[in-house]
Amino acid sequence: MGKIPKGSEKDHEGDEMCVSEKKEKQQDHSGVSRRKFLKAATLVGCTAVIANPSNASAYKEFEGWPDRYGMLTDFTLCVGCRSCEKACNEANGLPAPERSFDDGSVFNEMRRPTQDAYTVVNRYQDPNEPDKPVYRKIQCNHCNEPACASACPIHAYTKTKEGPVLYDPDLCFGCRYCMIACPFNVPAYDYDSALEPKIVKCVMCYDRIKEGGIPACADACPAGAVTFGKRDDLLKLAKKRIYQKPDRYIDHVYGEHEVGGTGWLYISGVPFEDLGFPKDLPNKPPIELTKGFLGAVPVVFTVWPALFGTIYAALKHRDELENNKTEHQVKEEGEK
Ligand code: SF4
Ligand code: SF4
Ligand code: SF4
Repeated sequence: MGKIPKGSEKDHEGDEMCVSEKKEKQQDHSGVSRRKFLKAATLVGCTAVIANPSNASAYKEFEGWPDRYGMLTDFTLCVGCRSCEKACNEANGLPAPERSFDDGSVFNEMRRPTQDAYTVVNRYQDPNEPDKPVYRKIQCNHCNEPACASACPIHAYTKTKEGPVLYDPDLCFGCRYCMIACPFNVPAYDYDSALEPKIVKCVMCYDRIKEGGIPACADACPAGAVTFGKRDDLLKLAKKRIYQKPDRYIDHVYGEHEVGGTGWLYISGVPFEDLGFPKDLPNKPPIELTKGFLGAVPVVFTVWPALFGTIYAALKHRDELENNKTEHQVKEEGEK
């Protein structure tokens, strides 16, 4: 489900050179050679361009693909039924949970997405009415400028033009930089695949969207708490609801601006920090903020050694995968 279909869109223009370098490496099956390692230096070069403060002016904030899709969750409508969790598991072929989907004891703890649950619903208290529960559905927010994608040294993540942020498990080699970079603590690590490490997360049901359908969780929600549509339309809908019922909602659409904007938007009757949302997130995407830090530290002492080591490991992992595939193909041909 999380695999990027062939021909899917790449992220913004600044990555073009890095992407073409990556493609070239994918065509070379000869092992992690010196030539490959030198090619990797070009990748480092791409990163160094980002790290160089003299290039800061070249950075342009990416406002997102026009017409991209998004989701809107209205916490005032959510009743905590967990139909969205069940639908997500079924749509993504995930295993049934240890405790059934109608077991309310899960609300006694705070959960986060895992390899077996790309979305979870947690229960909070309304600070003004402590007896009134407020339920929050959590999953990837499909950021306009995803920090996970910025942090991934081998570009395993893609921000599609349709809106979902996807990842390629065949490229992932398990460095987990994306987990550290995500401001919403979303990507989960699949510990069951020790030989084939991979990250897992919600992909906004990309396959369903591509076929004209709607994400399973939105389809299953009996309360109308999750709405799928064009992000621009959802933003208008969110603001309209707040305008029409100012006593019901706080005057904030979460995700409109946070970290440069997210594809998944939220409206609520209680402050977002009371629902465990990260407080005071900047409106700038993380890639712009990290540039200053990277530029302030001599690249040769920090970024380069780390990236050379990381890229070497990435190339080695990829070659192992490719060699396995080639051996498999040879075996299949021999059997014909
Ligand atoms: S919420 Fe986290 S994992 Fe999802 S797109 Fe944003 S940075 Fe990436
Ligand atoms: S959009 Fe799809 S993958 Fe994401 S939480 Fe909903 S059902 Fe799960
Ligand atoms: S299906 Fe809808 S109402 Fe039920 S828990 Fe999920 S978001 Fe809330």
